[in-house]
Amino acid sequence: MIHYTLRCKKDHAFEGWFRDSAAFEVEVAAKRLSCPTCNSKAIERAPMAPAVARSGEKRAAAKDPKAMRTMLLAMRKQIEATHDYVGPAFAEEARKIHYGEAEERGIYGETSAEEAAALAEEGVPVASVPWIERGDA
Ligand SMILES: [Zn+2]
Repeated sequence: MIHYTLRCKKDHAFEGWFRDSAAFEVEVAAKRLSCPTCNSKAIERAPMAPAVARSGEKRAAAKDPKAMRTMLLAMRKQIEATHDYVGPAFAEEARKIHYGEAEERGIYGETSAEEAAALAEEGVPVASVPWIERGDA
């Protein structure tokens, strides 16, 4: 059984238990669900709280390191395709872009944790990502 928080189109929230997510879809499509407050049959799942989604992700990653690796590799590929590589000059280049001294674009490269923190403090948007090696080594 799974538990969903549901919401009608008038924004009344209520709870529902279903065998699985498919069973929920069937009930909604057949209009067998109705809001206990206003009887509306326009029902949808309320979005999950972010904290719930995050802890779910963590569990999935811990259980399945292979899926985690696939996800990180996909992320790396996407960054490489859409960002310019600037290597160890990352912090310097990020500042130039932030202060309008270099062309505005996405960049990636290496920097120290201290530099990254200093950049963040200056308001330069930086993110550190786990950069995993390609191949099986
Ligand atoms: Zn309602």
